[in-house]
Formats: sequence, C-alpha cells, structure tokens
Amino acid sequence: MDLPVFVCEVLDKLTSCGYEAYCVGGCVRDHLLGQCPDDYDVTTSALPEQIISVFRGYKLLTVGLKHGTVTIIIDGQPVEVTTFRCDGDYIDHRHPDKVSFTSRLEDDLSRRDLTINAMAYNPSRGIIDPFGGREDLNSGIIRCVGNPMKRFDEDGLRILRALRFASRFGFEIDKATSDAIHRQRYLLSYISAERINHELCGILTGECYRILQDYPDIICEIIPEMYACIGFEQRSKYHDKTVYGHIIATVAAAEPSVKFRLAMLLHDIGKPSCFFMKDGAGHFYGHADVSRDIAAKVLGRLRFGNKITDEVLFLIENHGIVINDDTRSIRRGLARYGEQGFLDLIKVHYYDTCGKAPEYFCEKELFDSIRKHTLEFLENEPPMSLSKLKINGSDVAALGFKGKAIGEALRFALSAVIDGVCKNEKDELISILTEKNR
Ligand code: ATP
Ligand code: MG
Repeated sequence: MDLPVFVCEVLDKLTSCGYEAYCVGGCVRDHLLGQCPDDYDVTTSALPEQIISVFRGYKLLTVGLKHGTVTIIIDGQPVEVTTFRCDGDYIDHRHPDKVSFTSRLEDDLSRRDLTINAMAYNPSRGIIDPFGGREDLNSGIIRCVGNPMKRFDEDGLRILRALRFASRFGFEIDKATSDAIHRQRYLLSYISAERINHELCGILTGECYRILQDYPDIICEIIPEMYACIGFEQRSKYHDKTVYGHIIATVAAAEPSVKFRLAMLLHDIGKPSCFFMKDGAGHFYGHADVSRDIAAKVLGRLRFGNKITDEVLFLIENHGIVINDDTRSIRRGLARYGEQGFLDLIKVHYYDTCGKAPEYFCEKELFDSIRKHTLEFLENEPPMSLSKLKINGSDVAALGFKGKAIGEALRFALSAVIDGVCKNEKDELISILTEKNR
C-alpha cells in the first residue's frame, strides 16, 4: 500500500518509540479498492498520554482524548490516532457505557462494524484481516463483524451504515446481516435525526435502487409517511408500477445529488391520499401540493437545512407542471421559475418519465429536446445584464479603456446588443468598442 508521507511519519514515530501502529478502517478499505481515502485513521498500542508525548512539538487536537483519540496535524493534514480500544456494554443502542484500552489489535478490530471496515495495515506486517474483510471486498459483500443481531442491538446506526456502504460500492448484503437489518429496524428510533440525515444522504447518492427496493421497511422506519405508497396500485395507463415502485425508479434515474434524489424520493409521497377513481381510471389531482407539505414535515424532522429544503420543495411542488417543446412555453417557464429552476424542472420531468410505463418512455426524448431548445434560447437571448455579456472588464481594459470608462464601455456594448445593433459575440463586441474608442 502506497501511503502518503505524512501517514508514514505517524506510523514510523510510534513504531520507533516501541509501540504498535497501523492504518485502520476506511482508509485500508479504500486503498484496497484503489480509491483515494478521504482521511487516515491510525490505531496504536500507545496510550493517549504516550501518543501525546511521542508527538511533542506537533500540533495536536485532544477533543477526543476521553475515547483515546489524539488528532495530529501534520503537513496541514489531520491524522486521528486512537489507542487500541474495547467497547463496554452498550447502554442506549448507540453508545458504550465505557471504553477501555487493550494491548491487542484484534480486540480493536472486533469492535468495528463491518468486515470491510475491520482491517489494519502497516508496512512491516502488511494487511491484518481477522474477519475476512478482504475477501468480502473482492466479492462485493457487506457483512457484520460477529453476530449481526447483537452488533445492531449494540448500535442501531450500524444498520444505516451497512446500507450506506452497500449503496456506495454497489455491494450485496450478506443474508444473516440482511435478515438482522430487517429484524432490528426498530432500533433506528434511538438514532439522532442528524445521523439519520447523514446516512440517508449517503444511501440516496449511491447505487441505491436495490437498497430502496429490498429495504422499504427501513425507509418507512425513517419516513413513516412512505408506508401508504408501498404496494399502492395506481390504476392508470401511465403507470405499470405501484407508487413506491415508481418513486424508486425515478430516484435511480436522477443524477446522484442530494437535491434531485431527495426530490424524487418525496415527489409522489402524497399520491395515496389524493387517489380517486373516475371513468375506470385512477387520478391524483393536487398530489404535488400534498407531497410538498408532507415533504416539508419530513425534511424538517430530519433536520435538513433551509437551502436544500427550499430547493427540494420547489421541485416537488412544480414536478407536474406542463412544459411544451415550443418557444412560448420555454419563455414562460424561464420567466416564472428562473433559469436554474426551469432547467432543474426539465430534469425532474425527465426522471419522472423514467418511472412510467414503457409506452411513455418516448417522452424522455421530448425532455431532451426541451432542454436543448431552452439552452439554445438562453444562448441566443439578448442579455439583460452585464454579467450575461460575452465580454468583461478585462477584455475592455485590454482595448485601452481605463477607470470609469470601462463600465461605460460595457454598458454601451449591452445597449448595442439589446437594441439589436450587434450580436452578443466577443468579436463583434470588441469591434464596436474599438470603433467607439477611435
Ligand atoms: P467514510 O469514508 O464514510 O469516512 P469510514 O469507514 O472511514 O468511511 P468512519 O465513520 O470515518 O467511516 O469510521 C472509521 C472507522 O470506525 C470505520 O471504518 C469502522 O471501522 C469504525 N466505525 C465507525 N462507526 C462505527 C460504528 N457505529 N460501529 C462500529 N464501528 C464503527
Ligand atoms: Mg472515515
């Protein structure tokens, strides 16, 4: 394993003082996957005060000292160094009542959640892998270290971590671990909203289709409002899937950002309560507003911030607007929803179509075309502000304009474009300004 110099320095210092020291957890996993780890954790036989004394003269953070962690800032990079640890009894299905230090690396690895997260490495001993993490990594399997029922009972957050890593890497979940996830799902009620928020975002932004399909019970544990959507038949020619089946197909179609994935997850959550039959077919009038109101409650409860909440609610509320592939419809859309809002809504329409019955997939091409025409329209539209002009202050300064004259020249160019005297193209703008400057 090719470790960065600053990590080698931490390992070398500890070993040269007679302690054992290893990289551990996520960084070993990511290295074996050929991915670049976000951060490096080190586990060591040195006790916290011994760690502090080994790194005397370095910048240290000691906020985690109670749990045996000292953060060493080295070349501006933080490395968390933690004493080999055993966890005591878990009191609230989340936290151990105490932690104690141990001299055995294997004890430390056995407290970790998943086999792929329970490997250690140092250059002299190589990979230490008592639970078969490497094999699981190669076969793409998420498996608890030890007895899954017990491990989830100790800490319910591990349920969501298992799903998050399965989604992130596109891995399968081992049968015993999967069974325990279902059976222990009620333990999620012990987990803070902030933690659930973080894990849900991680699940949604990965390869989440299978997770949403195989673990609807977990999704409902987090979002009970989703219960009504599961198995709810739509009785509509547009749909060959239940409301939940449609929802998860649209989530999978969406780009993997929190904004779009959350919007699709919640865009039809109000459908069951709006359902009625007319002329032998199911209808859901007003469901966008109902979904929006339910989503507002869900996002507030899960402690999403104002910005993301507003963005998601905007997409949900407007997911059903009619957009036609003609200039009038596009101009109206841009005027009403703004450039970014309208482009986002075109995407949402496209994702929504991906969850419909195959006969309606042809609409996907329609939204590609609307997007193309909207971008063309924006490109050719006369600019209404200086920021849309294809030249800027430095272009103008390069022509010899100075001080206040730069702003005047830009405003002159903008009016010329608005009046149709010249096109919003750099060459043309430069030539009329050169003319003016003569
Ligand atoms: P990421 O790339 O998301 O940071 P990570 O594996 O590094 O992944 P962290 O949350 O940084 O995840 O945790 C570091 C290590 O600590 C994990 O690899 C795992 O060994 C252990 N760990 C973290 N949370 C738990 C938990 N709730 N239960 C048991 N072990 C855990
Ligand atoms: Mg980490």
